[in-house]
Amino acid sequence: MKNDPTISLVADLLAQSPDTVVLTGAGISTEAGIPDFRGKNGIYKQIGEDKVYSIINIQTFWRDPELFYAFYRKYFRLPDVPPSKAHLTLAQMEREGIIKAIVTQNVDGLHQKAGSRNVVAIHGSRSRYICTNAECDQVFSAEYVENYPQTVPRCGKCGHILKPDVVLFGEHIKDYMPAWEIIMNASALLIIGTSLTVYPLAGFVKEFSEHNKNIVIINKGPTQMDDLALYKIEAYHTGYILEEINQLIKARG
Ligand SMILES: [Zn+2]
Repeated sequence: MKNDPTISLVADLLAQSPDTVVLTGAGISTEAGIPDFRGKNGIYKQIGEDKVYSIINIQTFWRDPELFYAFYRKYFRLPDVPPSKAHLTLAQMEREGIIKAIVTQNVDGLHQKAGSRNVVAIHGSRSRYICTNAECDQVFSAEYVENYPQTVPRCGKCGHILKPDVVLFGEHIKDYMPAWEIIMNASALLIIGTSLTVYPLAGFVKEFSEHNKNIVIINKGPTQMDDLALYKIEAYHTGYILEEINQLIKARG
């Protein structure tokens, strides 16, 4: 639905909000061509959540790295796609001082690729691999791992197994406190492309709503927290919606 009157109200809110923080989930990356694992055709539906959980967890990683990596390489390959219009517009909004930071659940690195600087990636990054030897801590690229001659990639320096720099099931999120602080100190939250079912991020939003009602949700379909949002926009195309909001803010000077 174009010319949604809500878009104009959101532009008013963001124009007056000095510290807007953006929270993003898989929905923003599907517009760049990254499949949503939890979506209709995602692997959670294809293979079954239980199967995914049983392999992509930290215990299996340590116990049976062969099994872990065979599965991870098959289903979690990072497609080499450019950032979407939505990613690019958010980067532009940061440069223009309209938004302050992005806290993302995505591991595709597309916000950084688009030029966003203040990004907290609470689930890590699929394009990095870290040596599991705490004294080594070398970082390797996805290319290194893809070209590695064996299923389980090892550190080129010390020979220990590499771990994807992503948060596996059974692991804590990264930057818990910084993410919490950025969100709690925001003057408004702009939530994009997440159904807000994954904790702790969903809990942060709930906690924020107890002292601040400036919550905007742009998502395809309902979310767990639509009733907490001041404005909800049904996302026919997030990139166009953000562009429209940004243009309205600039027009208002
Ligand atoms: Zn090493």
